[in-house]
Amino acid sequence: MIPLISNRVKFIEAPDRARFPYAHSLFIDDEIRVLIDTACGAESIDYFLDHPPDLILNSHFHEDHIMNNHKFSSAQVWAHALDAPAIRSEEDFSEFYGFHHFGQEKLGRLFYEWTGAKSSLVHQEIQGGQVLDFGKTKVQVIHAPGHTPGHCCFLFEDDILFSADIELSSFGPWYGHWCSDIDDFIASIKLCQEINPSMIVTSHRGIIEDKIQKRLQDYVNIIYQKEEKVLNSLKQQPMTLSQLTELLIYHGEIKEFFRLFKMWEKMAMYNHLKRLMKLGMVEKTDDYYYAK
Ligand SMILES: [Zn+2]
Repeated sequence: MIPLISNRVKFIEAPDRARFPYAHSLFIDDEIRVLIDTACGAESIDYFLDHPPDLILNSHFHEDHIMNNHKFSSAQVWAHALDAPAIRSEEDFSEFYGFHHFGQEKLGRLFYEWTGAKSSLVHQEIQGGQVLDFGKTKVQVIHAPGHTPGHCCFLFEDDILFSADIELSSFGPWYGHWCSDIDDFIASIKLCQEINPSMIVTSHRGIIEDKIQKRLQDYVNIIYQKEEKVLNSLKQQPMTLSQLTELLIYHGEIKEFFRLFKMWEKMAMYNHLKRLMKLGMVEKTDDYYYAK
């Protein structure tokens, strides 16, 4: 456990460099003891089961953030109102992923089983702007949607920002499912830039203290680079969503779990097209998308 702010806020490092299905956690050791997200690895989870927190604060509904909620039967679970339904039920979890919109319900069910995710209660729904009082530690809820509708970052004193899955990876922002929104994602990254944190802690990249503004800018630019590839492809010839998916613009290449990643690729392309049509840069006739 690495103390971030005196001894009260600690970084809990996840195994395997916090690659899926793991994610780093924070632990607030205050009058109210709070664990932020619950997929930080078996060793840490076992420790917290022996020293249970009073409260679990989820950054969003994804399986690699809520994984072990259900094991902490004595803890309250808090999450943003817009993501709470997908934490509470498998049905809503699947609805948020949206496999069924593309005739892939079965794949969606397999995915849910494969992740090992289990639904849990959400006792309190939180909102952006709220300041959560855990004793000496006050945490401001920053609603930062786009990755998921209720995705939240948490701002601590000294401008330390836990940015969850605004995770600053070289892959770029992840918006490969139905409930993602690219415009919201862009706005949320800009919001993180405006906050101008002194330190940023992401769920999959951990503690970052240098070049934070540049890293956020590089991260949002990956969206624009992929968008440009989509537009350039459509300028060459009108395409259906399936044809565009074949280009693997979002993933670059797919090495494993081909059907699953292909589905995410398709939904990411769908989200790009949705934004480009809203911007008036793409039109759709029958099943074909045209660059204007
Ligand atoms: Zn996520």
